[in-house]
Amino acid sequence: MADFVFGIDLGTTYSCIAYVDESGKPVVIQNSEGENTTPSVVGFTQEGAVVGEIAKQTAAMDPDNTVSFVKRLMGEQDFAIHFDGEDKSPEDVSALILKRIAEDASKMINAEVRDVVITCPAYFGDSHRIATKNAGIIAGLNVMAVINEPTAAALFYGVSKDQGKKTILVYDLGGGTFDVTIMDINDGRIEVICSEGNHELGGKDWDESLMHYIYSKFVEETGYSGDFDASMQHTLRLKAETAKQQLSRRESTVVMFDAAGLMARVEVTKSTFNELTSALLEQTIDETDKAIAIAKGKGYTVTDIILVGGSTRMSQVEETLIAKYRMTPQLVDPDEAVAKGAALHALYLAQKENELPPPPGETKRVRELPPGPRIEIDIVHATTKSYALEVLVNDEAMWNNLIIKNNPLINNEINAKEQYGTNTANAPSVVLKVYENDFMDEYFEIKPNQKILGDAVLNLSGDLPKGAPIEVTFSLNSEGLLTITGRDLTNGAFIESHMQIEGSLTPQQIKEKTEKIGLTKTQ
Ligand code: AMP
Repeated sequence: MADFVFGIDLGTTYSCIAYVDESGKPVVIQNSEGENTTPSVVGFTQEGAVVGEIAKQTAAMDPDNTVSFVKRLMGEQDFAIHFDGEDKSPEDVSALILKRIAEDASKMINAEVRDVVITCPAYFGDSHRIATKNAGIIAGLNVMAVINEPTAAALFYGVSKDQGKKTILVYDLGGGTFDVTIMDINDGRIEVICSEGNHELGGKDWDESLMHYIYSKFVEETGYSGDFDASMQHTLRLKAETAKQQLSRRESTVVMFDAAGLMARVEVTKSTFNELTSALLEQTIDETDKAIAIAKGKGYTVTDIILVGGSTRMSQVEETLIAKYRMTPQLVDPDEAVAKGAALHALYLAQKENELPPPPGETKRVRELPPGPRIEIDIVHATTKSYALEVLVNDEAMWNNLIIKNNPLINNEINAKEQYGTNTANAPSVVLKVYENDFMDEYFEIKPNQKILGDAVLNLSGDLPKGAPIEVTFSLNSEGLLTITGRDLTNGAFIESHMQIEGSLTPQQIKEKTEKIGLTKTQ
């Protein structure tokens, strides 16, 4: 049995796992219910956690102990749900999803699932990526890399289609997020040109528009005037999602909705649905236009559009893109392309690792990889965020962007250096405040209550005069992780720093959570 490596699309609404099988083809592994994707929903019960379809279906009965859309909380807050006297973090909840799909996959193909590449949206910043990686570690997985969903989709697309030069636009509309990424594909090389998107926009919002419509028709028909509690809302959400999906295949559908002993029959036509949601679709077009303009500014013209994400199955998406851009988008396994691309990337990393010599004096475990072809696709990633440092300019505090988004990471990293002067004499250290942002300007104003990424402390010799030159370097790697170093130019000393990302777990917390998750029943 070969040592397989895996790609996991940890989605807002559904997750999916794939591997490159013995014939060298990326394939999705079904879960224990025989489905290719698993709802990213976790229900907490006294007997343990329940993950997937059962949790999704039973959420109406126990909404307070069920977590959906946890991806929206990753790296944003340290709390997802309070259950049984304990706070569960978004990493804890995501780890349960990962553990469930890894265990199911392991049983299905009768092989260990350990080495994985996990995907995340391109707009994810440092804290979100760290949280994603930590969720994998807590689930007992070896996270080889965290890569961007559109890059993974392009990897799959790049190898599943004829090679040749093209500039592709990946329009990725999932359950909770929208990403648009433009990439240049040329002879086994994928270069990310730019990424835009809205992480508050996805299929869920289409569901909500339909929920409001069904609700208003229910009230109109039955005269109901009471509140809709969490359980009724959940049932309504499930019905709205089903109706939305039916409208991808037919011109109209009927929703039978009963609540509080009353029943309504609501007919929804495709044209009503399209009208209700046209403003949502327009938002995706605005982001797409923005990305196209950036790419144009860099000399690229889009030649292909590919659709990724379950919500691109809504016919309004394709129709609108054709009308607007005069190109027929390609739908390549929209629900599975990301996981399959991640699986290809995992194999690529494993092949590369096998070729590295062992560290001096050590032996190395060489994986017995499946006999498929060598993956020869190089990815040139781009920065998807800007990173700024707080500095004084004419005695006024400002943000100074050292790294600006949408720039290529040559050799998988970007280094930006800038020289500053110390603000006081004899300071033992300086605290660097770092702000992750979406601005393209070099300097911009500090606004109240901005959530900073973290603080990095540079220890100094303590005897420097005011204005002593300090060089600060921001380095960003291909996983989107930032490190900060300094150089005291008076003494030539290199200064290492550790940045504490606000809200991220400490190594001790990760260890404790990893040990604990083994005790949780996942299905
Ligand atoms: P993803 O995050 O890519 O798994 O996409 C999940 C979203 O795709 C959810 O909002 C689903 O309701 C939506 N979706 C899946 N299938 C369809 C379909 N046939 N028509 C419309 N939306 C769909």
